[in-house]
Amino acid sequence: MIEVRNLVKKYGNHLAVDHLNFKIESGRIYGFLGPNGAGKSTTMNIMTGYLGATEGEVFIGGHNILKEPEEAKKHIGYLPEQPPLYMDMTVREYLEFAAELKGIKKAKREDEITEVEKLVKIKDVEHRLIKNLSKGYRQRVGLAQAVLGFPEIIILDEPSVGLDPKQIIEIRELIRKLAKKHTVILSSHILAEVREVCDHILIISKGKLVASDTPENLERLLGEHNTVEIEADASPSDIRLVLKSVPGIERIEIKENGEEACTALIHEKKGQDVRGHIFRAFASAGIPLLTLKASGTTLEDVFMELTQKDIIPEALTKKAEELEQEEEVQEDAGDL
Ligand code: ADP
Ligand code: MG
Repeated sequence: MIEVRNLVKKYGNHLAVDHLNFKIESGRIYGFLGPNGAGKSTTMNIMTGYLGATEGEVFIGGHNILKEPEEAKKHIGYLPEQPPLYMDMTVREYLEFAAELKGIKKAKREDEITEVEKLVKIKDVEHRLIKNLSKGYRQRVGLAQAVLGFPEIIILDEPSVGLDPKQIIEIRELIRKLAKKHTVILSSHILAEVREVCDHILIISKGKLVASDTPENLERLLGEHNTVEIEADASPSDIRLVLKSVPGIERIEIKENGEEACTALIHEKKGQDVRGHIFRAFASAGIPLLTLKASGTTLEDVFMELTQKDIIPEALTKKAEELEQEEEVQEDAGDL
């Protein structure tokens, strides 16, 4: 339904979107997850035709968003990060204006606006000025504007930012309701939110797609690996040497702490507990271990790891390679 191919966006020298490739299938809720500055809004603005790309293409229902914007845009409703609300209009006036812009036929306009107002529960405020509404209500008006015309795909950029917990629950319920008839793509920098509402998560970091899977698979793929953090009075090379003799280690990250000591994050292979081995290895090498502590891996860790550091866990790199190979195979098949 949506295909993003090799998308690149540069702001001057800054690479905000770095060769993104993904497909969106119909009938699911997709989450773009990434920290602030990851490139989520830029990607969404390009997908919806608000912003040009430096390189790459976006197809919406088979139409190139740049070459056939009108056809492509018919399939999408968009709630940008800063919804373009006109503060001096009433809710109804604004929705009438939006309906006209979307080319909804005059005869259908009134009924459709009423239907959308009921859907997002703003019928009771339709004659209020937008500037007098709370943030939660304004967000719903923005959502109503996106839903008008009932496009197949609804794209929401950080729909719950700035809302209080009660409003967040309401917006999430609304998104689930919308997803029964529409494909929904939302962005968020909050993992819990994406995990709760989305069927599929695309993790974006520094403009790159670093993972794409269901929340369950992401957790399964990485969740069974545990990490052990140690601090030792030794150089990184000595630490690596000692750990060489320890079985069950997937990989090691070492940070120098300025003085003599180093901290190492040891990723265990699935189902292993290497703490005893580590302790004995350091003891027999005569190197004092200052800290040794274990921690599990949650989706939270996965997210942190993927987005805060430059390291991509091996399991995911493999997964990404597999995906690329699959795509190559599909492309080859297409050529035949
Ligand atoms: P996100 O929505 O994930 O927070 P954005 O897409 O807004 O990320 O931004 C991605 C990167 O591009 C950031 O580093 C941001 O500072 C930069 N950026 C966004 N918009 C502009 C702009 N109009 N001009 C220059 N840099 C921009
Ligand atoms: Mg953003």
